[in-house]
Amino acid sequence: MLTTLFRIFLSEDTEIVTPIEKNYHDIQLTIDTAAASVGRDPREVLLVAVSKTVGVAVIEEATRLGIHDFGENRTKVLLEKQQGFPNERWHFIGHIQTNKLKEVVGRAILIHSVASKHALEVINTLALARGVCQSVLIEANVSGEASKDGATPAEVPGLLEYASTRAGIEVKGLMTMAPMLLSHHDDTARSTFAALRELRDNLVPVFSGSDNISLNELSMGMSDDFGAAILEGATIIRIGRRLWS
Ligand SMILES: *Cc1c(COP(=O)(O)O)cnc(C)c1O
Repeated sequence: MLTTLFRIFLSEDTEIVTPIEKNYHDIQLTIDTAAASVGRDPREVLLVAVSKTVGVAVIEEATRLGIHDFGENRTKVLLEKQQGFPNERWHFIGHIQTNKLKEVVGRAILIHSVASKHALEVINTLALARGVCQSVLIEANVSGEASKDGATPAEVPGLLEYASTRAGIEVKGLMTMAPMLLSHHDDTARSTFAALRELRDNLVPVFSGSDNISLNELSMGMSDDFGAAILEGATIIRIGRRLWS
């Protein structure tokens, strides 16, 4: 009798869920629900865990939960964390300073935030010198918010045209951020995400003949608005706070 009770307590103990595990589970439920509501396969949505605010122990826990894509917004920190976790996929999602690109070209699985010809040129030169082809996204400021990084929608075709003749670059799609202060209002965020998808949809036929331009990826949606992003076709969501806190 006592032994049975003890066993029951023990087996319950083994099911203790950590806060991050619970957050991850909740996020997955939201991904599943949002995807299902628009007839998408939730497996089309990649969660990039934005680890800029957390350290080694937390990253370690995330890998044990099955998270293998991490995003950093500072090149040096990306390098350091990648050295600690060389088998994980590291995404660069931060503002690009071209003099720091040498730290991430050939190391980041994807650079999300390319918004100028100069950045494309520097990435291409570094990639060719290193014998790699660097995957990138073009960041577009579709909300028009002045404080946002990113190319204007009108500039995006010119950037793609430029990239299409650069052998060291592969453009996989587009990235955007919803307006900061309004991102918890799903409608505003959602219309921003819809605008990025429409921009992409309009560009697909224009660049269908370019070997190194495929516009399948839409990196959009963060902690407060990733459900809306998935409704509008996000294939990559970038989540920090919602996972760690
Ligand atoms: C920090 C950051 C995120 C994650 O933001 P949360 O609100 O913490 O989910 C996503 N994308 C970029 C570019 C970031 O800098």
